[in-house]
Amino acid sequence: MQDDTTKTTTQEINQDNASNLQLKGLSFDIEARIPGQLGRAGTIHTPHGDIKTPAFMCVGTHGEVRFLSMENLHSIYAQAMLSNGYHLRNKSYEIAEIGGLAKWSGWNGPTLTDSGGFQVMSLGSGIGKVVSMEREKEVTNAPKKDRLAIVTEDGIHFHDPFTDQDDFIGPKESMDIQNRIGADIHMAFDELTSLADSYEYNVEALERTERWAQISLDEHKKHRDDLGYRQSLYGVLQGGRWEDLRRSTAKKLGAMDFDGYGLGGAFLKSDLHNILRWCNEELPEGKPRHLLGLSRPDDILVGAENGADTFDCVAPTREARHGRIYTKYGYINIEKFANSDQPLDEGCDCPVCKAGWTRGQLRALLKSQDPEDRAKYFNLASIHNLRFTLRLTEEIRQAILDGCFEEYKNEFTANYYGYSPKGAAKPE
Ligand SMILES: [Zn+2]
Repeated sequence: MQDDTTKTTTQEINQDNASNLQLKGLSFDIEARIPGQLGRAGTIHTPHGDIKTPAFMCVGTHGEVRFLSMENLHSIYAQAMLSNGYHLRNKSYEIAEIGGLAKWSGWNGPTLTDSGGFQVMSLGSGIGKVVSMEREKEVTNAPKKDRLAIVTEDGIHFHDPFTDQDDFIGPKESMDIQNRIGADIHMAFDELTSLADSYEYNVEALERTERWAQISLDEHKKHRDDLGYRQSLYGVLQGGRWEDLRRSTAKKLGAMDFDGYGLGGAFLKSDLHNILRWCNEELPEGKPRHLLGLSRPDDILVGAENGADTFDCVAPTREARHGRIYTKYGYINIEKFANSDQPLDEGCDCPVCKAGWTRGQLRALLKSQDPEDRAKYFNLASIHNLRFTLRLTEEIRQAILDGCFEEYKNEFTANYYGYSPKGAAKPE
C-alpha cells in the first residue's frame, strides 16, 4: 500500500535530477486515473525536483513556513513550497542575486509563487476563498471609498495596510517580480471576483483577466531563463459560478502556451466540484492544475477527484496556531485537553506524534506565559497539521494508483466528518 516514491525527500530527488532538467522547465506525466472521473495521479518535473501528485504545497509566504525550519519541512516529506510574489516584492532583487527562491530560502526544492492578485484583492475587499454569502454581501456592498482595491485596465491600485502606502500591481509588474524571485512555477496575474459580484461584472473581469493572461505570458517569456533554469507559468482561470464563463475561459487559456493552470475564484463549497469539472473538462489534459488556496480535507478530496493536481493553503499552520489540531476523526480544540495523556492523533506518522507528545503537553505549551514555550507549541502543532495534510494527499495518490479512490474517500470522510458521502447531507 505504501508508495515508496513519495517517501523520498526533496533533497534526494534533487540529487537524482541534478542538472538535466535545468533548462527544460516543467513537464508532467500522468500515471493513473480515477475511473469515470477527471482525477489523476502523476509527477510534475521541475528544475528543482519532482512533485508526486496529487500534492499539497506548504505555504511559505515570505520564503519560509512560519515556525518551521527547512529541516522540519523535509522531515514531514514536504514536496514543494509556495511563496507570495506580492509579499516578497521588495526582496526580489536580492533573491535574484542569490540565484532564485529555492536557493535564497534554503529550501532547495520545487517552488511556486502566486501573482499577488489574490492578496491585493483580499487586502482591498476582504474577499476570502470559501465564504458565506452573507459575509460576501457585507463586504462587497461597502461604499467604494472604503474598498482598498480599485481595478483598472492596467492592474490593481490598492492601499497596503502593512506599509500604509498606496501601491499598484498589474500583469507586467507581477511578472517582473516573479521572474526575479525565480520560483519554478509562476501564476499569471488575474482579477479575483467575489461571490456577490454579478454575472455582468464577472464577464467584464474575466475579459480583463484573459487580456492580462496574454500580457503575463509575453512578459514571462522574455525573462524565464534569466536565472539559469527555465521558469514556468500557469494561466489562472476565473469566471465565478457560471458554467459558460468557466468553460469559455478554460478553452481560451487552454489554447495558450501556458505550462499549467491555476484554478482560481471564491467558491461556495457546494459549487466546487461543478466548477472544477467545467474547467478541467476543457483544459488540456497533459498540463498540471493547481487549486489555489484550499486545504480542508473535503475540498482536497473533491479537488483530486475532479482533476486538481496540487493544492496550497495557510489553514493547516494558521489553525494549528489557534489550537485546532487535525485528527483522523475530525479536528480538536487543544485547549480542551488539559492534562490529557492522549496522543495528538493516534497512528499519526509525524515526528511530533512519533516522539510521543501528548495533547496535554501541547496545551500546556500553548497556555504558558513563556514566549519560548508558545513558539515551541506553534512549531509542534504546525508540523503535525502540515503532515496530516501532506499525508492526506499521499494517501489519495496511493489510492488512485491502487484503483481504490472511491473506497478511500468514503472511509476517510466517514472517519473525519462522521458521515458517508453517499448518505446523509454534509454537516457544516
Ligand atoms: Zn502528528
